[in-house]
Amino acid sequence: MSGTVWFVGAGPGDPELITVRGRSLLERAGAVLYAGSLVDRAATRWTPDGCEIRDSKGMTLDAICTWLIDAASCHETVVRLQTGDPGLYGALTEISRPLDAAGVPWAVVPGVSSAMASAAAAGETLTLPEVTQTVILTRVAGRTPMPEGESLAELAAHHCTLCLFLSITLLDQIQRDLRTAGWAEEAPMVVVHKASWPGRETVVRGTLADIAERCRAEGIDHQAMVIASPALGARHWPDIARSKLYDPDFSHRFRRARTREIQQ
Ligand code: SAH
Repeated sequence: MSGTVWFVGAGPGDPELITVRGRSLLERAGAVLYAGSLVDRAATRWTPDGCEIRDSKGMTLDAICTWLIDAASCHETVVRLQTGDPGLYGALTEISRPLDAAGVPWAVVPGVSSAMASAAAAGETLTLPEVTQTVILTRVAGRTPMPEGESLAELAAHHCTLCLFLSITLLDQIQRDLRTAGWAEEAPMVVVHKASWPGRETVVRGTLADIAERCRAEGIDHQAMVIASPALGARHWPDIARSKLYDPDFSHRFRRARTREIQQ
């Protein structure tokens, strides 16, 4: 009988941003392997005494899989603690396939992604009625190439919200691609470094023209989310289209409209 390996989203940094389920799995874990390149050891603070805790930062993928399989042979609950949500840029498939091959059961507990935590840190909404209703989570090509049709210049042509992971060192390329896609020099951008990390979070606001320079001035060159969106800064606009959901003249499942209207 093998224990179960739980891929748990640790959240973006603040140990309190793990889910209740993630925390209760940590509370009964016999072994925890955390991704120390982005997850602070503080995230393992919920583990019981005697729990085996290991940082995977220096390990290869094979070593990670072997460790998890071995741990599952001794413990009922094994946690692979990953940053943000395990389904985004997290090697979930590469690690789970060897678990399947070894007959080790596994499951995923979602987490608060850094994209969401970055928007929260900046007090921004990623969607706004009549401005943008779409969010693209992507990255630019670094050592990992982008699949065909997914270059930033192509995706940016939608002029919707873009959350760019793993790309802070490539701001010059981001600027080039957004210009190619027709974004204006004064298009607002926000970069959030270490979103939600207690006492360590930095929010840099700028425009397409100056965001790279502003980030350089702040010394931000890792663990940062780059957001470009026509909705940024909307709280300072003189007027915005209001959400239909709260419009007194709009009926929906939970509220009748003030005036008669044809329900959508
Ligand atoms: N699964 C993670 C993403 C892992 S990829 C998630 O859902 O958030 C790592 C990238 O995520 C980093 O290069 C950075 O772009 C972003 N990131 C991770 N933690 C962050 C944080 N606290 N603040 C800002 N960006 C972060």
